Amino acid sequence: MNILAFGPNGSGKGTQGAIVKEKYGMDHIESGAIFREHIKGGTKLGMKAKAFIESGDLVPDEITIPMVLETLAKSKEKGWLLDGFPRSLAQAEALDKALKESGMALDYILEITLDREIAKERIMGRRLCANDNNHPNHIAFDAIKPVEKDGELVCRVCAGELSARADDQDEGAINKRHDIYYDETTGTMAAVNYFKNTDSKIIAVDGSKAIKAISEDIMDQLG
Ligand code: AMP
Repeated sequence: MNILAFGPNGSGKGTQGAIVKEKYGMDHIESGAIFREHIKGGTKLGMKAKAFIESGDLVPDEITIPMVLETLAKSKEKGWLLDGFPRSLAQAEALDKALKESGMALDYILEITLDREIAKERIMGRRLCANDNNHPNHIAFDAIKPVEKDGELVCRVCAGELSARADDQDEGAINKRHDIYYDETTGTMAAVNYFKNTDSKIIAVDGSKAIKAISEDIMDQLG
C-alpha cells in the first residue's frame, strides 16, 4: 500500500505516519528526516541542504526530487507512506510522472487539516528522538509526552536523548514553512489539489482532534 500524507508542519503528520507504519508495516519516508540524517552524517548533500532547512526555505528541486524518488524506489516492494514531499506543484508533477513510469500505484491521499495558528503553537513543543525518527514526543500532549530521567526529558519510547529542531524554535522559519504549505497557487496546497484530481482515494481528517481519535479516523478509512 502506498500513501501520500499531507498536513501543515505541526499537524501531527509525522506522529500519524509512525502509527500507520507500525500497523501496516510499510516504510515511513520523511523528506525532512532524510535531510536531517544527511546533515548529521556530514554528507555533501547535507551540507548543501543545511542553510535552506535552517531558514525554513525549500531545498532546491534538483537536490530534493532525485533524493526522494531514489528512496521511494527502494520501498517499492514494501509499500510506503511519504511525508513532506511533494511540497510544491512542480514536485507533485515530478512525483506523478515518476510513479507512472515505475508502475507504482498511489492508493491513498491522506490530508490532515489544521488551522495555521494552532499548527504554529504545536511546532514549538515537538521533540526529536536521537535514536528513531518514528518515536514522536511532544511536551504538550499526554499521549506522547517525554519522560523524565535523571532530571532530563528523554524519549518516552526508548529513553533516547531529545532535542528541539532549530527550525521549530524560529518563528520566521515556521512562518515561511506555513506560507509554502498554505499556498494554493504553486505551493503544497496546489500539490494536494493536484493529487485530489487523480484516482487515489482521499482520506481527510481533522487534525485538531486527539492523536488517538485521528489515528482511528485514518484506520477506519484505510480499512
Ligand atoms: P520537515 O521535517 O518536513 O519540516 O522538513 C524540514 C525542512 O526540510 C523543510 O523546511 C525544507 O527546508 C526541507 N524539505 C523537506 N522536504 C522538502 C521538500 N519536499 N522540498 C524541499 N525542501 C524540503
